[in-house]
Amino acid sequence: MEDCIFCKIINGEFNTEFVLENEFAVVFKDINPKADTHLLVVPRKHVESLNELDDEILLGKLMITVKEATKKVGLKSYRTVINTGKEAGQEVFHLHIHILAGNIKL
Ligand code: AMP
Ligand code: ZN
Repeated sequence: MEDCIFCKIINGEFNTEFVLENEFAVVFKDINPKADTHLLVVPRKHVESLNELDDEILLGKLMITVKEATKKVGLKSYRTVINTGKEAGQEVFHLHIHILAGNIKL
């Protein structure tokens, strides 16, 4: 989607390094980390928020991607966060799952 920062990242417009990528999602480091490790799992498909996601398969694949990414970077203990809606702190309206570990400030 035009003017979506995460769509641009997925399309390679910023040469963002992906920690992991698969058919359904990409994983990259949060630019403003709120913990020692702060990753974002982002579906390739533009979905505004969890409220707009009705694809059960994609939802499952995103959670499996969380597991793959944490395993890859060696995390056994971590927190996952999904902000849904402005009032809850969602700033980027392309669904993403935060992965946080170590000195979490969120
Ligand atoms: P949320 O508040 O849940 O919408 O989270 C959006 C997250 O995206 C914030 O933690 C931002 O620091 C992060 N973010 C925004 N722009 C970028 C970017 N270009 N690269 C990586 N992370 C970003
Ligand atoms: Zn998008």
